[in-house]
Amino acid sequence: MTTEIAIIGAGPYGLSLAATLRARGIEHRIFGTPMHTWRAHMPEGMKLKSEGFASSLYDGTGDLSLGAYCREQRLNYQDTGLPVTLDLFSTYGVAFQQRKVPHLEQTDAVQLDSTEGGFRIALANGLDCVARRVVIATGISHYEHLPECLAGLPPDLAGHASRTRDPRALAGKRVAVLGGGASAIDMAALLGDAGADTRLIVRGKRVVFLGPPATRPRSTLESLRAPQSGLGPGWKSRLCTDAPWLFRTLPEGFRHKVVRKHLGPSAGWWTRAPVENHVDVLLQTRIVGATPRGGAVELQLMQSDGTRRTEIVDRVIAATGYRPDLRRLPFLAKALRQEIAETAHIPHLSGAFETSVAGLYVTGLAAAYTFGPLLRFAYGADFTARTLGRHLAHKARRSVHAPGFRAEAAVEAA
Ligand SMILES: Cc1cc2nc3c(=O)[nH]c(=O)nc-3n(C[C@H](O)[C@H](O)[C@H](O)COP(=O)(O)OP(=O)(O)OC[C@H]3O[C@@H](n4cnc5c(N)ncnc54)[C@H](O)[C@@H]3O)c2cc1C
Repeated sequence: MTTEIAIIGAGPYGLSLAATLRARGIEHRIFGTPMHTWRAHMPEGMKLKSEGFASSLYDGTGDLSLGAYCREQRLNYQDTGLPVTLDLFSTYGVAFQQRKVPHLEQTDAVQLDSTEGGFRIALANGLDCVARRVVIATGISHYEHLPECLAGLPPDLAGHASRTRDPRALAGKRVAVLGGGASAIDMAALLGDAGADTRLIVRGKRVVFLGPPATRPRSTLESLRAPQSGLGPGWKSRLCTDAPWLFRTLPEGFRHKVVRKHLGPSAGWWTRAPVENHVDVLLQTRIVGATPRGGAVELQLMQSDGTRRTEIVDRVIAATGYRPDLRRLPFLAKALRQEIAETAHIPHLSGAFETSVAGLYVTGLAAAYTFGPLLRFAYGADFTARTLGRHLAHKARRSVHAPGFRAEAAVEAA
């Protein structure tokens, strides 16, 4: 049986889209493990940088926002100023899935290919799904960026930050964290707190911490100078959250630059004390080589003035971010991928998130290059679910009348 819409991925974007389609009564299927990136690939003890009001999943009703969930569960919550823990956000995401997306099929897509009239998805459970339209909502997973000099090292000596779930397991070890962004600083703070002998290796001149929450309401002048937004205060961020469709009209080179540069590295205020107290921060330093030595790694480092030094550590953690690249989606058949128009392996998308292959859509980080930095954050799930939900609902209603559509499929998930 051909399904109308299939969604691959059950993170904030996939779940919000599925909940929105379900609320509209649009037949679809969704595959994946709920909130897997958050539950398996972020460090325990982490807090979100996004404020409470910007950390919800969406279905168009707003009745299960993070705030509503916390009130119902009698959990501490504030729209701003009270960091949301990873544990809370993950638990909330799973509760959202159970109530709003109970039809989630907890199996992965292993192959996505085109077939007559649509796409064929082979599933890890051995079954197949044929769909007229497919949304790739696999977010940041598959896009970890590891510096080349670490690529050949065994995983117990070096790996991407997404592989270190429990920083406490490294207590007493010598650990080097690479990167100057929020996730590197977070990881270093958690390791330092856990009693690891931690050094943070940063290419830039300084590490930036956001200020602690204000103790008084913002004045009118402050709000005018830097209005609040789901990406933090400031006019640029406000433009990103309020007009993502406008971003798409800008020249491509400029868009790519903004996505890379806007909201540069800065960490939550709560990481300042552990970093200052427990972490050795090596500024203006980059890694130029890494060699296994017994059970440890010798890192060759170079400072900006050309001085070289070495560090021997038990583990290197590369908190060096995520780089979207269609070639890295293991389930995407090569022939289908080659049909997708792209720049630097990032898909070109229409105003409805559609790739150049009709019926194939991409959301999340890869879509940030079309719709702006908003799409790098859970906050962008609202815009995505509304825009794409409306488009897919329109298409689905039209294809109800198309030959070959099975009427029972339309009511199955409603
Ligand atoms: C350390 C860290 C801290 C962050 N902090 C914040 C923050 O404070 N606030 C914020 O808004 N954002 C934060 N982010 C960014 C955050 O990851 C994204 O905002 C969010 O996860 C995007 O949601 P998504 O649904 O697009 O992707 P994801 O959350 O990555 O979800 C994609 C899902 O697809 C699944 N999947 C992958 N392949 C398949 C397959 N073949 N079949 C089925 N399922 C598949 C994955 O398992 C995953 O569950 C942070 C990221 C990192 C790394």
